[in-house]
Amino acid sequence: LVRVDDLHKRYGDEEVLKGISFEMDRQDVQVLVGPSGSGKSTLLRCVNRLTEFQGGEITLDGTPVTEMDVDDLRRQVGMVFQDFNLFAHLTAKENIMLGPRRVLGKTEEEAAERALDELDRVGLAAQADSYPAELSGGQKQRVGIARALAMDPKLMLFDEPTSALDPELIGEVVEVMEDLAEGGMTMLVVTHEMGFARAAATDIMFLDQGRIVEHGPPERLFENPEHERTAQFLERLT
Ligand code: ATP
Ligand code: MG
Repeated sequence: LVRVDDLHKRYGDEEVLKGISFEMDRQDVQVLVGPSGSGKSTLLRCVNRLTEFQGGEITLDGTPVTEMDVDDLRRQVGMVFQDFNLFAHLTAKENIMLGPRRVLGKTEEEAAERALDELDRVGLAAQADSYPAELSGGQKQRVGIARALAMDPKLMLFDEPTSALDPELIGEVVEVMEDLAEGGMTMLVVTHEMGFARAAATDIMFLDQGRIVEHGPPERLFENPEHERTAQFLERLT
């Protein structure tokens, strides 16, 4: 579904991604970990072209993302951010309806129905008419996930979806993500939640200074990392 081939990305003179290559099949859950500044967010942003890259190629279903219409690409690739990015003046339901209405051209009724379905899926049916200010951080993030899902994405990107949350609210968001993974959603996830990684990841990739140090299935990476740096990093997270 996704192929990243020798991806290079610079900000000015600083090379932030130094030749990243990996592939994801449908239903894969690729977890991405690494120290601050290692390029995790930048990598996600290259995939849906929130930022442009200078070298290499990213393809989605065989088509280079650089050759796709950006709106079309973003319709197919949902993104969930650390800080939710909900519109404060819209209710949970209205936030979710926005994309299907404007981008997919759905009717008010269709969009509302879909929004309620997605709210139900993330356990927030009762909060449909609540405004973001009336929701907890965990609830806001679940609305963020529901909003992305309402677009029927092929791929979901998550950039530290739980790191702005109080510890007691992390679990409810992780649970929704695990359900999604189990349901077969293809996901590329930057997270420090190693519980999620163990439970849901098909592969964990450790990024450092713009390079993949190593990657592998969670059992292997946790039990038997090849590199000392990986071992040290994972140890600090678990
Ligand atoms: P964190 O764990 O802190 O979120 P990260 O792994 O997501 O870190 P990135 O945000 O991808 O790291 O940043 C990688 C490097 O690129 C850093 O050195 C950062 O300073 C730089 N960088 C990121 N965004 C920009 C930008 N818009 N302009 C210039 N440099 C940037
Ligand atoms: Mg980041």
